[in-house]
Amino acid sequence: MTLRNFSILFTLMAIGGIVSVQGQRSNTSPKLEDLPRRAIDTLSTQDDETKVIIYSNNTWSYYRPTLLNKYDDLPVYQKHWDTTQVFAYRTIELSDLPSAVDLKLISTMDEFHPPIIGRVFSKYGPRGRRSHKGVDIPLQTGEPIYAVFEGKIRYSKYNTGGYGNLVIIRHKNGLETWYAHLSKRNVAVNEYVKAGQVIGFGGSTGRSRGPHLHFETRYCDQNFDPEYLFDFENGQLKYQTFALERSFLNIYSRASDQLEEEDDEGYLALLTENIDSDSTSADFLERVARAQAKPDGINPGGPVYHTVRSGDILGRIAQKYGVSIDQICRLNNIKRTTILQIGRKLRIR
Ligand SMILES: [Zn+2]
Repeated sequence: MTLRNFSILFTLMAIGGIVSVQGQRSNTSPKLEDLPRRAIDTLSTQDDETKVIIYSNNTWSYYRPTLLNKYDDLPVYQKHWDTTQVFAYRTIELSDLPSAVDLKLISTMDEFHPPIIGRVFSKYGPRGRRSHKGVDIPLQTGEPIYAVFEGKIRYSKYNTGGYGNLVIIRHKNGLETWYAHLSKRNVAVNEYVKAGQVIGFGGSTGRSRGPHLHFETRYCDQNFDPEYLFDFENGQLKYQTFALERSFLNIYSRASDQLEEEDDEGYLALLTENIDSDSTSADFLERVARAQAKPDGINPGGPVYHTVRSGDILGRIAQKYGVSIDQICRLNNIKRTTILQIGRKLRIR
């Protein structure tokens, strides 16, 4: 909507308000909220996209004209826009994607909000013959769930495939974030949301054993480990711009395949059921036994990897794992002077 169209709409709203004044006379003294509302002024706020509308009955409301449809013309909101099915890119294969895509996530910190803050108790990755395509974070039923970045709601309905109440936001850069098992959804498809807007409330709908948020990140329908982008426990975003490599779009590519993150989380992970698994109680007991025997994610004697983070240098990585720089160079066929790309997976052992 152009500014001019907006003014016309605004004028119509105002006229509508005036018309309703004539129709609502009453003998009893009216309550404030019952008074006819007529827009009399708009005020700017610190946020460029938000205005405050002042009404004739001394009430006010927020208005965000520019959020309504300023992105509607972007190809990302034109192509593969399917509000009825979870998968929207059915004609695109993984092999069609470039080897890496730069995802510009934010330019200022207020463009990010954690979906919920909490410890991931079930990580992304293979689960026996099935796979867990997101992360699980425990919550209290009814806790608000926030949009991580601004975007447009691509899907908001009850999904019978196991997700329960599911909201999918497609962000401008093509990234999609999925929020599952919600007790209640707060948004409708084709609606724009800002980072930090409450898109629903946590719950345990669908295939779930207890209240938790199942959260996924996808690009062209292909899932990757959300922990590449987010530190859920501290509510932080790891990058402003993230180089999403095609190799990350793989259930075996985990952000946490690093020694320092191996702890008791794996135990909790195996105790908790998730949407991609349809196991019986015998399976569950077996998983408990396995978890007690061996923490998830540790493969003693197997290869050890480190995913490069912002600020990492070879010397510090080598020191952290107690290996030589030469060993890392040899295993990864790189030189001491090679610039380490964030997100790159280095073999350590
Ligand atoms: Zn899950």
